[in-house]
Order: sequence, then C-alpha cells, then structure tokens
Amino acid sequence: MSIHRSSARKALALARYELASVDDQRLKYAALELRMAIEGVTYDRALAYKAEFPPEEYETWQPKKIMLVLLEIDSSADSDSSLSFGIEPAPGQSPEVMRHLGAEVVFNLQIIKKHYDALGSYLHSPSLKHVRSGVTSDYGKMRKRCEEIASSLERVLASSIFNCTLGVFSSFDCCECNTRIRRRMPRGVDSIEVDCLNCSGSYTLTRTSDDKILRELHQHEIACANKNCNHTIIVLRKEIVAGRHWTCKECHGRNEFHLGLVHYESY
Ligand SMILES: [Zn+2]
Ligand SMILES: [Zn+2]
Repeated sequence: MSIHRSSARKALALARYELASVDDQRLKYAALELRMAIEGVTYDRALAYKAEFPPEEYETWQPKKIMLVLLEIDSSADSDSSLSFGIEPAPGQSPEVMRHLGAEVVFNLQIIKKHYDALGSYLHSPSLKHVRSGVTSDYGKMRKRCEEIASSLERVLASSIFNCTLGVFSSFDCCECNTRIRRRMPRGVDSIEVDCLNCSGSYTLTRTSDDKILRELHQHEIACANKNCNHTIIVLRKEIVAGRHWTCKECHGRNEFHLGLVHYESY
C-alpha cells in the first residue's frame, strides 16, 4: 500500500473521530482531515500513472487539477471497475467460467468538484461581510456534507483491488536519450502523439492492422540556408523554435530559426 493510501486511512479515521463528537466546533477539524484524505486517495491514484505523469510534476497541485490530467492520459482514470478472468476454450471465444478478482471504487472528479473546495471554505474564518450580515454557519449542512464525504472515502478505501490500470501500452526507449517512454493507446484511437519527459524527442504512435504499434520520431532534415552550401542536418521537431541556431559544419555560417510572415502583392 502506498504512503498516500495509508495517510488517507489515518486522516479518515481522525475525521470519523471528530464527527462522532456532538460538538459542532469540532466539525472544522473533521473537514481538515477529510480534505487530507481526499488528497491522499488522489495522489495514490496518480501513482498508478507515474510512468506517464511523474510525481515531481504534481507535488504542489490540488486533487482537481491532478484528476484532470489523469483523465487526459486515460479517460477511464476515475471510473470504478472490477477485474475478472477466465480461460478461453479457443482463442477469441468467451470463457465459460469467469473468476471475479475484486472491484475498485475511485474517488472521482465529480465528487472532488462537489466537495473539495466546500471543505476548504469550512477552514477559514467567516468574512467580515458574512459576520455583518449576521449569517451563522449552517452546522447541520456542514455535518451532512462531511458524513457524505466520509462514506465515499470509506467505499474507496475498502476496494478489494486498487490502482489497476489495464490498457494497451506502448513502451520503448527514447532514441535520443534512452529514457523509457510508456504510453497507453486509448480505446478507439489509432494514432497519438507523445513527448519524451526527459528530452525534446516526440513521436507519433500508430496502431497497425495487426495490432502492433509503430512509432515515428518527429524530425526533419534541414538544409543550410546558405544558397552556396547544401549541407543538411537532422533537427527534432521540438527544437524548431524561433531563436535556436546551429553552426554549419560545411560553410561555418550560422543558421537561425525565425518566425516570419511574407507578403505578396495582389496580381
Ligand atoms: Zn528522450
Ligand atoms: Zn552551410
């Protein structure tokens, strides 16, 4: 179990302890623990995608933003699932007996959107405007919300399997820097573009008719801009940006990329 999942469990237990008190003043402590539990289960979910979404990228992020990126990587990242297996009597035929391995409940984006910011608002002192208007905190509503979130978190943390992310993956070493690149091909999509997380390499992955994945590095052969010199070099697509330059090995001149707009008179 990851450290995030166990800290979510601890935070949820503390929230339950605070919620058990009849003292409404304890509710804000329950809200704080529930917020931390939501962060824990979302960071834990993100770990399942660490090859595609490294933790350094989201260390300071809030759950909503993390879940949005996970959904970009895998549209089923926040869906509940169950896992079963069976033996095919013959290739392609449905198994007669399926064995159920377990089910997973995910704290999904919809619940995060519904509750996370509201929990945060319980942690601040009421604004002056709020105080002046004489509106008092609705402790009944706050308690109901906290109970609802605690129940959702309990279902998530009671999942018999977790962070199972099945999919068609393509994994290969970046031909520029040797870093392992691991990406899933979304269902129903035959071609995607992926970037190396370590260098400027980028690729198009294409599914072939026999279900293999072809990869093509984005690169271009570019000739020296000196008309009397035709020496060419290979440049990665992401390196073609205004201001970047190279010195030609043949004529020793400098070639620099510029973004340009050329106007032609009307005929
Ligand atoms: Zn690379
Ligand atoms: Zn040249």
